[in-house]
Amino acid sequence: MLKKTLYGVLALLLLLTAAIGGGALAAESGPARPVVVQGAMNLEMQALVAALKNPKEITYGGWTFWQGTIGNLPVVVSRTEVGLTNAAAATTLAIEKFQPRAVINQGTAGGHDPALQRFDIVLGQKSIHFGKFKSNHADSGRGIHSENWIPENVKIRVNGQEKEYPGFAGDPELLKIAQGVAGTYTHGKIVSGVIGSADEWNRELDRIQWVHQKFQTSVEEMETASAAQVAAAYGVPFLGIRILSNSEPRNQDWDPKAGAYCQEYVLEVLKALDRAAKP
Ligand code: SAH
Repeated sequence: MLKKTLYGVLALLLLLTAAIGGGALAAESGPARPVVVQGAMNLEMQALVAALKNPKEITYGGWTFWQGTIGNLPVVVSRTEVGLTNAAAATTLAIEKFQPRAVINQGTAGGHDPALQRFDIVLGQKSIHFGKFKSNHADSGRGIHSENWIPENVKIRVNGQEKEYPGFAGDPELLKIAQGVAGTYTHGKIVSGVIGSADEWNRELDRIQWVHQKFQTSVEEMETASAAQVAAAYGVPFLGIRILSNSEPRNQDWDPKAGAYCQEYVLEVLKALDRAAKP
């Protein structure tokens, strides 16, 4: 009887430990699940590939992945290619093929918040689609008034239930770890904010200001919310990390060095994840 109770208590303890340690970063038995790190273009992810130990290249359709390790952390670097559809396809493949414990989408972006300047980095507390609208009827000849268009939430099915998303929250645990290594970054400041995604490159200041006010966007780019949407449907922890490579409000042109600077910082985040994953 006593023995039975003891076994019961032990089993319960084991279950509890598993439940508490069940987050994105928990050490696990069995083959460790990788962290997937995404970048759209070579200048946004090749330094991360170069940082991998024993990289193995795998291509599915138009999307290439590099599988390796950073420290003891299994990492898959993914080149998503540019734009929402590419990002969704690359994220679906990454999750189906590699069963990641987390997905990080990182790379360059354009500033919306005038308080931010080139080389500042935004950690995505939230990412949001800002290209999904409907308009009310207007007769021929009434013109095009995109400022009157009505934003619509995206919908996905999660565990069989259709759900509406006014943006996707970054995983708090990943966010905390990324914030923890902010001090290593020397090219600008690191803030938490909103990453806006659309297949658009906006340079009209009135349009940028309108999007910034309507969606509270810190930056715009073309992939993060799309990757976040797929990750949410699978329940995989997700974080967007975006550097300003340009800022129209600050009159700062695109600078490719941003791609390298962002990867330097993301490498520090991966090392921190490696430390956090140790038992
Ligand atoms: N026109 C080229 C290059 C695209 S650059 C092509 O289509 O191949 C766009 C990439 O840079 C996207 O991956 C996007 O995420 C990022 N980006 C950087 N600054 C941006 C901005 N101001 N607006 C939109 N995307 C931006």
